[in-house]
Amino acid sequence: MTHEVLFQRACAVIPGGVNSPVRAFNGVGGTPLYVVSGNGSRICTADGRELTDFCCSWGAMILGHAHPEVAEAVSTQARAGTTFGINTPGEVELAECLCRAVPGLERVRLVNSGTEAVMTAIRLARGVTGRKRLIKFDGCYHGHSDSMLISAGSGLLTGGTLTSLGVPRHVAEDTFVAPYNDLDAVRRILDEHGRDVAAILVEPVAANMGLVLPDPGFLAKLRRLADSCGALLIFDEVINGFRFHRSTYSAICGVQPDLYTMGKVIGGGLPLAAVGGFAVFMDRLAPLGGVYQAGTLSGNPLAVAAGLKTLELLDRDAPYPGMTARADRFAAKVNEAAAGTGTPLHVSAYKGIFTVFCADNAMRCLADTRRCDTKRYAKLFHAALDAGFYLPPSQFEVGFVSAAHTDADVDALADVIVQFCKETGRGQA
Ligand SMILES: *Cc1c(COP(=O)(O)O)cnc(C)c1O
Repeated sequence: MTHEVLFQRACAVIPGGVNSPVRAFNGVGGTPLYVVSGNGSRICTADGRELTDFCCSWGAMILGHAHPEVAEAVSTQARAGTTFGINTPGEVELAECLCRAVPGLERVRLVNSGTEAVMTAIRLARGVTGRKRLIKFDGCYHGHSDSMLISAGSGLLTGGTLTSLGVPRHVAEDTFVAPYNDLDAVRRILDEHGRDVAAILVEPVAANMGLVLPDPGFLAKLRRLADSCGALLIFDEVINGFRFHRSTYSAICGVQPDLYTMGKVIGGGLPLAAVGGFAVFMDRLAPLGGVYQAGTLSGNPLAVAAGLKTLELLDRDAPYPGMTARADRFAAKVNEAAAGTGTPLHVSAYKGIFTVFCADNAMRCLADTRRCDTKRYAKLFHAALDAGFYLPPSQFEVGFVSAAHTDADVDALADVIVQFCKETGRGQA
C-alpha cells in the first residue's frame, strides 16, 4: 500500500494523520512514512522499501529492531498474561537492576511515558518543597505536561511563554526558562525568586534541539545553585539514561541530581519510563506519603520483560564502545567533506548520538540553532531517504546509532552526505 493512500486514510480518522506531531514530516515536507517491520538496523516500509534507520524510535531501540532475545522475552510474557493490575516479580527485578546501575537511585517508580515521569517528578518536587515555581532551559524537551510546554518569553524574570493552546496562562508564570548553558540567567532568576523555586529541570546532554553538550562545569554549578536556594535538581535522562553507557549521564559527569527521569532505552521498545532518586524524596509518593501518583498499566509485565532483557543484553554484549566509535567515524567523515567543499554543515556527535546541523559549527543553546538552514536540512533528509536512509525528520532532533548498526551502515550514510556536500557546497549552491 502506498504511503499517500495510508496517509489519506489516516487523516480522515487521526488528527493530522499522526499519533505524535514530528511524524507528520512538517519539518522536512513530503508524505510521512509507514513502517511494517524492522530487523536490526533496517526497517521495511509499507510500499516495500528497505531503509537503514538512524532514528531508532528516538533511541528506544538501542539494540536494533526486533532483537530475537527481546522478542522472545516479550512473547513469553505475552503468553503468560499482559497485565494484572497486581504486582509482578519482574518489576521488582527491573527496579533493582536500575537502582544497582544508577548512582543515588535509591527508589524508583515505573510509569508509562517520559511525560508521566517528568510530571510526577515535578509534583514530587513541589510536594516536598512546598514551593511551586520551576526553572527549565530553552530547547530542552520534557514531555507535554502543562508546566513544561513553556519557552523563553520576553523577560527572564516574568516566566515563560506558552507553546500550546489549552495551557492556563498562570502556568507560564510558574515556569522560568533560561538559555541552556547560561548560569548567569539561572542566578538572576534565583536572586529574585529563589525561595519559590521547587526544582531546576535539565536534560544533562540536551538532545531535543539537536545535540547540544553541556559546557564543562555547567551541571556541577547548577547543582550548587539548586542547593543554595533549596530547590531540587532533576536530571531528565529520558534520552540520556543508558544511552551512553549502562547508567546515566550523571554517572559520567559526576554530578548527582535529587531526582531522575528515564525512559526510551529502559523500556526496550515498549511504553515504560521511570522516576526515581533519593529515598527521602521518593518515599513521599503515595502510598507512603501525600504526593499522589498511580497507573493502571504502570510496571506493565510486557514492558518490564522488554526492559529487563534489554538491560541484560547491554551488560552482556557491551555495545557502547562500538556505537560511540561508529557515530564518531560518521561525524569525522562528514565534517572533513563539509570543510573540504566549503559546505555549511556540521555533525555533532556524542557517544552514539549525533545531529547533522546545516550550519558551520556546533551549538551551545537554542538561540544558536537559529543559524541552521532548515530548508537545506529538508533537502538533506530527502536525499538520504531516496538513497535508503531514515534520518530524524527534523533538524532539531538527534540521530541514533544502535548496537545493530555496522561500520558499513554509517559509512554508507556518510557517503550520501559527502555527495550532498559536493553537490550543494558553497561554490555550487
Ligand atoms: C522523549 C522525551 C520525553 C518524553 O517522553 P515520552 O515517552 O515521549 O512522553 C521527556 N524528556 C526527554 C528528555 C525526552 O527526550
